[in-house]
Amino acid sequence: MHCLVTGGAGFIGSHLVDLLLESGHRVSVFDNFSSGRRDFLSHHGDNIKIIEGDLLDLDAVKAAMDGIDIVYHLAANPDIRLGTTVTDTDLNQGTVATYNVLESMRIGGVKKIAFASSSVVYGEAEVMPTPEDYGPLFPISLYGASKLGCEALITSWVGTFGLQAWLFRFANIVGARGTHGVIFDFIHKLRADPNRLEVLGNGRQEKSYMEVMDCASAMIHLTTNTDDAINYFNLGSDDTCSVRRIAEIVIEESGLSDVSIDYTGGDRGWAGDVPKAMLDPTRMRDAGFSTNYNSEGAVRYTAKTLMEEIGLDE
Ligand code: NAD
Repeated sequence: MHCLVTGGAGFIGSHLVDLLLESGHRVSVFDNFSSGRRDFLSHHGDNIKIIEGDLLDLDAVKAAMDGIDIVYHLAANPDIRLGTTVTDTDLNQGTVATYNVLESMRIGGVKKIAFASSSVVYGEAEVMPTPEDYGPLFPISLYGASKLGCEALITSWVGTFGLQAWLFRFANIVGARGTHGVIFDFIHKLRADPNRLEVLGNGRQEKSYMEVMDCASAMIHLTTNTDDAINYFNLGSDDTCSVRRIAEIVIEESGLSDVSIDYTGGDRGWAGDVPKAMLDPTRMRDAGFSTNYNSEGAVRYTAKTLMEEIGLDE
């Protein structure tokens, strides 16, 4: 199959590109390199086609659909916090960008889309672990609103124009090449001050974590082995890990001693942060995919790997 990966130069996208190529697929990447990096793809040389373009440029997206069998749509603003200051970020980079992808697929006759959604569509869910059929869905961040809006746009394209869709609601994804998120932030804070680690909130925020290769493998497994018009899955591990525990693990893996952990207080890291999220991955498992890491294992592996990538010295 010829796969177009939007956001293919990003953290998750570049791992997906690695695995798609390994599985024998042809891959084109569409990315504006706002947070993506060329060096995440450079090891593929001429084996992939890289289209540098912005999803807000409809003509560029239409041109990219030539000969494509499936779109893995991952490009978006990945920073949930940004919506608190620039309130149209997710509307544009998420919702409008997704409209442009869908409209270009319709015009270009491309029939399959896999979408990187998120656990944040569940908002502050009252059922934990949260299954895919939990509702009503009331996201509490602008990013979450955009993800839910994108899911709705995608299912409307299925119902109206005969697309086939895979909606993947990701847990917190962590691993090699991470460029954002709590573990990345903690390592950078320890680089700046090896004696003190500031933690946003009271540290009791608790979420499911999934290792990035597990996430990319799950996407490929499920797009290959499920075949409904709309296929929808939580992608995550069975358990959670608290921010407090993540801080301890990062400090353990750093080898630093005498680090004081200072909590800024409050039950969440920032406005729109969901304090507790635990996905129910039963449907993913029933469809034949199991993760290699649980949440704590994914966090520890990531702390180790990112520490090697970033280095602890300034
Ligand atoms: P990332 O920032 O590393 O990747 C996003 C990629 O999209 C980057 O390469 C960026 O350059 C590109 N991009 C952004 N806006 C674009 C635009 N307008 N046109 C073209 N390219 C554009 O982030 P990631 O963590 O790899 O996230 C990938 C997807 O997974 C995103 O949709 C994100 O919302 C979703 N997601 C991520 C997590 C996580 O924990 N990382 C959790 C849930 C959902």
